[in-house]
Amino acid sequence: MAVVVMKFGGTSVANVDRIKNVARHVKREFAAGNKVAVVLSAMAGTTNQLVEWVREISPLYDAREYDAVVASGEQVTAGLLAIALQAEGIPARSWQGWQIPIETDAAHGAARIAEIDGSHLRERIDTGEVAVVTGFQGIEPETGRIATLGRGGSDTSAAAVAVAIKADVCDIYTDVDGVYTTDPRIVPLARRIPKISYEEMLEMASLGSKVLQTRSVELAMVYGLRLRVLSSFAEPDSLPPVEIGNLENIGTTVCSEDEIVETQVVSGIAYAKDEAKVTILKLEDKPGVAARIFGPLSKAAINVDMIVQNVTPDGAHTDMTFTVQAAELPRALEVIDKVKQDLGNFEVKSSDDVVKISIIGIGMRSHAGVAAKMFQTLSDKGINILAISTSEIKVSVLINADYAELAVRALHEVYGLDAK
Ligand code: ADP
Ligand code: ASP
Ligand code: MG
Repeated sequence: MAVVVMKFGGTSVANVDRIKNVARHVKREFAAGNKVAVVLSAMAGTTNQLVEWVREISPLYDAREYDAVVASGEQVTAGLLAIALQAEGIPARSWQGWQIPIETDAAHGAARIAEIDGSHLRERIDTGEVAVVTGFQGIEPETGRIATLGRGGSDTSAAAVAVAIKADVCDIYTDVDGVYTTDPRIVPLARRIPKISYEEMLEMASLGSKVLQTRSVELAMVYGLRLRVLSSFAEPDSLPPVEIGNLENIGTTVCSEDEIVETQVVSGIAYAKDEAKVTILKLEDKPGVAARIFGPLSKAAINVDMIVQNVTPDGAHTDMTFTVQAAELPRALEVIDKVKQDLGNFEVKSSDDVVKISIIGIGMRSHAGVAAKMFQTLSDKGINILAISTSEIKVSVLINADYAELAVRALHEVYGLDAK
């Protein structure tokens, strides 16, 4: 017997037939004697529609009301799956975030889970009842209001519930059968990665591979939770039920680095289209200038990612380029405009026509020349690099958005990731 969390994303619960299909996946685990908690997303497209309605009514909306609206999609799918399971003769009930409760902080729209007392949920699933939990939502205990976890947040709900009920595994069912070397929709030659380390998955997710929400990987890593990515589109009876000690022959297992025998220099390539670039030209080159620009940005809670600074030929001035999330660009420009009044004359240019491409691999720690190969490959394709950032296990470059696919495909090939 294993305790299993099964999470199903939007395309996996997109309509009544898909929900019935999910019930068959759950039935397979139930019939094998496993204890199951299911975590669900809203039907594909529902959350987008809800967000759109909120923005249509007022672009300056109250974030608590936004959460009241956008959390509703998950309530529909959770109730429907509980009914579908009952129709299959499986005892089941739905649980909304506040009923468990899943407690969050007060950052409505992008809340973090603070605590889940999983004891009650665990008692109920120990009796053989399947718990169907609404993903993406929790409750802010001070005000008792619904809070959502940021887009893609059901993955995080699933990992957090798995930790709270001490599950043996957290299976994320989606529309691909695992984590691939890059987005298989962009590169048809991408390969499934049977096992990937938490560190690499964390970088992949945070650098744009939205197959898992970053925070879900962080939680799994901190708590040593075994996370798998599987396809809900596989025939339910074709997958083996969860059996502890025998989890690794399907999908992708996200696990600790020591469990991975063969490491690649580059394991995966990610891209993020939601970046924007700001360039400040002819800034006076003197101590404290960077602090006077990035201080106010940080105060305004704007995350700056890549930074490049060049001294201009006259030696007295400097040009500075940095990136922020595209959605934050208007606010960032507003902050810079205020700094200008204080720091004197400089020119500002911005563009959200950029994309960040990253190569990721723990093998980079012990190999030289990995970044140079990336730069050479892009140069051979005539692609200009606008900014660079690196860490121990990744190299990211910012390029013009028009070249995104060309760059990902070329890098995928050059690092030997293409399927044979
Ligand atoms: P869900 O609705 O199930 O949460 P998502 O759309 O959030 O699904 O995530 C699955 C999608 O992630 C896939 O359809 C795929 O296009 C995309 N994706 C991006 N990068 C990768 C990758 N490296 N491996 C697999 N899928 C990826
Ligand atoms: N339904 C939410 C979203 O679309 C949460 C999720 O799917 O994970 O972002
Ligand atoms: Mg998702």
